[in-house]
Amino acid sequence: MSNIQKKTDVILIGAGVMSATLGSLLKELVPDWEIKVFEQLPKAGEESSNEWNNAGTGHAALCELNYTNERPDGTIDISKAIKVNEQFQVSLQFWTYLVNSKLISNPQDFIMPLPHMSLVQGENNVAFLKKRFEALSTNPLFKGMNFSDDPEKLMEWIPLIMKDRVSDEPIAATKIDSGTDVNFGALTRMLFEHLNSKNVELNYKHSVKNIKRTSDGLWEVKVRNADSGTVERHTAKFVFIGSGGGSLHLLQKSGIPERKNIGGFPVSGLFMVCNNPDVVAQHEAKVYGKAKVGAPPMSVPHLDTRYIDNKKSLLFGPFAGFSPRFLKTGSLLDLLTSVKPYNVFTMLAAGAKNMPLTKYLIQQVMLSKEKRMEELREFIPNAKSEDWDIVVAGQRVQVIKDTEAGGKGTLQFGTEVVSAADGSIAALLGASPGASTAVHVMLEVLEKCFPQHMNEWEPKIKEMIPSYGISLVDNPTFLQEIKTSTEQTLGLSEKSNTLVDAPDKNKSFE
Ligand SMILES: Cc1cc2nc3c(=O)[nH]c(=O)nc-3n(C[C@H](O)[C@H](O)[C@H](O)COP(=O)(O)OP(=O)(O)OC[C@H]3O[C@@H](n4cnc5c(N)ncnc54)[C@H](O)[C@@H]3O)c2cc1C
Repeated sequence: MSNIQKKTDVILIGAGVMSATLGSLLKELVPDWEIKVFEQLPKAGEESSNEWNNAGTGHAALCELNYTNERPDGTIDISKAIKVNEQFQVSLQFWTYLVNSKLISNPQDFIMPLPHMSLVQGENNVAFLKKRFEALSTNPLFKGMNFSDDPEKLMEWIPLIMKDRVSDEPIAATKIDSGTDVNFGALTRMLFEHLNSKNVELNYKHSVKNIKRTSDGLWEVKVRNADSGTVERHTAKFVFIGSGGGSLHLLQKSGIPERKNIGGFPVSGLFMVCNNPDVVAQHEAKVYGKAKVGAPPMSVPHLDTRYIDNKKSLLFGPFAGFSPRFLKTGSLLDLLTSVKPYNVFTMLAAGAKNMPLTKYLIQQVMLSKEKRMEELREFIPNAKSEDWDIVVAGQRVQVIKDTEAGGKGTLQFGTEVVSAADGSIAALLGASPGASTAVHVMLEVLEKCFPQHMNEWEPKIKEMIPSYGISLVDNPTFLQEIKTSTEQTLGLSEKSNTLVDAPDKNKSFE
């Protein structure tokens, strides 16, 4: 065992889409800074960011009903939908910059145009969807959204879902063609390839075991090299903990006061993937339903066309469940070891408040394949068991914290940047809207941790993300310019129907 000491400017812990994005932003802003990445797995993008571990939705609130709540007076609140959509526009602009600057190529390898649809059944739900459509479709961010409650029109939009449907309940859908399917795994790998070409040191099979402050104000990261068994100590001026589900434990090890009264609630996921190319060929959209009563927002099942490894696939899910692991490759002790004297009351309060949710998630884990098929048949009435396999998705660790509105131990469904007061270390916790808003969230890391550089960096940020600091919803002409440019560069205006194939069967199907 050796004790190597190495100094650098920036350490990124974890090779997921968040570290990839932060590293890429920093390389453009300060090319001279030395960056090192430590990833415990053998490759980049193998945990939540992997294409088989998440749903690949470019979340822009085009189809997710949980971003548009009905107010007590019956009107629809679209403020959250506007926020999520604007954040996705930020990601699209940065990816456009990377492609135009030839820092990454072949955008079709990570992003494809795909209609986003919401589908509901029952009189009240149809009335809700119509009001939601009326509130959104006049907004420039949601231009092009259509609504229909005409079964013939729906048959044209979603034949696989409408065929053999016998229910007499009213049914309706909205459809918007500017939606996307994003292969966040491919994007992560591309970004790390680009970083590698810019002399960023990528250390795979290197697991970070500890983080502590040195007497000269740097951060010392203790890393175990899995191949050699050696332990290395690296110091940096700035550390980003982009370790997905592993972030909470590392944040706790850092000892910063901001780590207190924060916990994590793990939610596991499963997808059903179609192995019949004839069925796959009959669907071309992401179709989101409405969450069942008692179900958390991230468990809303959806029937998605996906483009993975340049093949068209069809996935249904994710079915949420409970597992105490914080990473798919994590330990059964993750939840237990995250409870510390300084968050135990927050965790206990969350436990007491979320008993029904935990019970729901445990019940979900116990569902047989046939029970899952019944849920799928609400979307595809004639779905056959033999056409569908189960694939294990990634883990999401939702943030638990004390809030003014929700009190002690409140479960959060968003992402959260936790940083030290002096900005020398930051961690990303939480999972939703997730990878889609990676660029927006990493800009937040820069603003929180490098306030002294922001004035100097602003012109470059604006070159990469022209809408930085500008509300797009309030500037429809500018929005249109941005949309034209991103759609053109990322190939989102034209449709590729050439990729019709069955999914890769070498994945971890159960
Ligand atoms: C089921 C599911 C569906 C989702 N659907 C969507 C969606 O449709 N759209 C969307 O935008 N987002 C979605 N998300 C969220 C999205 O996947 C995540 O927000 C995003 O991938 C998180 O990226 P990350 O880089 O923070 O984490 P990860 O991709 O998990 O990367 C973290 C990395 O850190 C490494 N690591 C952990 N601990 C250590 C350590 N101690 N030392 C070294 N390395 C370490 C891990 O091995 C991993 O590679 C979904 C997530 C799940 C689980």
